[in-house]
Amino acid sequence: MADTVIVLGGGIVGLACAFEAAGRGYKVTVVETGKPGGQASGAAAGMLAPYSENTEQPDAFFRLCLDSLRLYPQWLAEIEEASGRRIEWIPSGSLNIVYHEADLSPLRTRLLWQNRLGAQAEIVEGSRLRELEPHLSQNVEAALYCPQESHVYAPDLVAALEDACRSRGVAIMDHSGAVTDVRLSSAPGVTVSTTARGDISGDRLVVCTGAWTGALGRWFGLHFPVHPIRGQICAYEVPVGVVRHMVFSPQAYWTSKGNGTLVCGASEDVAGFDTTVTERGIGRLVRSGPKAFPFLADKPVVHRWAGLRPAIRDGWPMLGQLEGAPQVVIAAGHYRNGILLSPVTGASVTDLLDGKADWGLLAAFAPERFSLAVEGSLSV
Ligand SMILES: Cc1cc2nc3c(=O)[nH]c(=O)nc-3n(C[C@H](O)[C@H](O)[C@H](O)COP(=O)(O)OP(=O)(O)OC[C@H]3O[C@@H](n4cnc5c(N)ncnc54)[C@H](O)[C@@H]3O)c2cc1C
Repeated sequence: MADTVIVLGGGIVGLACAFEAAGRGYKVTVVETGKPGGQASGAAAGMLAPYSENTEQPDAFFRLCLDSLRLYPQWLAEIEEASGRRIEWIPSGSLNIVYHEADLSPLRTRLLWQNRLGAQAEIVEGSRLRELEPHLSQNVEAALYCPQESHVYAPDLVAALEDACRSRGVAIMDHSGAVTDVRLSSAPGVTVSTTARGDISGDRLVVCTGAWTGALGRWFGLHFPVHPIRGQICAYEVPVGVVRHMVFSPQAYWTSKGNGTLVCGASEDVAGFDTTVTERGIGRLVRSGPKAFPFLADKPVVHRWAGLRPAIRDGWPMLGQLEGAPQVVIAAGHYRNGILLSPVTGASVTDLLDGKADWGLLAAFAPERFSLAVEGSLSV
């Protein structure tokens, strides 16, 4: 009989793990406190931008992002097939714009190493830049153009992924209420107690609880330094095609969606688990608009919202099995890149369940790296 897997958390990461595990024959139950996709995943801008997000060096995190980008086309095709829904995926490319000649120098350095790793990027200026993005302000001096980056419409992707999970037989226990206990044993392996859905038992547990993962460490005697970073974000009504690329400036980004909105993000605030949208957070984004796109000076913001990014002290996710409890896999802390990283996370987690994970790739993301650091510093 197939192993039964409980996935805690129904954001994109939990659903991606459930989808892949169910596809490889596991009997999967997703336990979600609220509504699937109701937190960070449904709030995201949906950018798949490993080059723009990793500007310093080709480290393990950058490679994980790149691996995930490469998995995206096939992953979306599988979700579309299983869900019967079409997913908006726009291969727009990106422009990282600068307003001053002096700011080009870090872009040139980045271009050198990123082009060796597939970016196919170039510096564009003058008429070539205006041809690519006709409504950019004359204030913009130049840009790093990266044709390999793209974006999806995150709320629809998560909804399609939920349907795709169901079509693969995944049971989704939403509105489960709080988790009051997690008990590990050799058989059946793990029991999760919830206030609204009672006890749920399985052979394996995959923890995908996003910004809330810090509270879960106590069940395993570990410290998970995950904390929420609020992202406030807004949208204008702008016809499709006016802004052609994902455009990143030092203050904000803009990405045009098929529903005729131009999404502009995003703040990074420390506000606990509060998802309130503030004038201060949105105001900063709105003020940066006309400098890049003069037509935004007259445009009202039509929609504003916020989500909690799951941030980890060193900026990298936790992705691995617990040494003392191999029936538990942690997949959390994807911070600014959880939409991008979902395919590789689903595949890696299922490889771990199958006992055939690439430890070389995953070593840098070991969930116990912080607990080990504490032990090490105590023994000195
Ligand atoms: C404004 C904004 C813009 C972003 N833009 C991008 C982008 O362009 N590209 C990109 O790649 N990423 C982006 N991100 C980041 C991305 O949204 C996150 O990294 C990703 O959604 C994390 O997914 P998750 O499933 O781990 O978390 P979540 O979507 O937050 O899901 C976690 C789920 O776990 C549930 N939960 C919590 N505790 C429990 C429990 N004890 N038991 C059961 N369930 C529980 C929660 O209710 C929640 O539904 C953005 C984020 C924000 C906020």
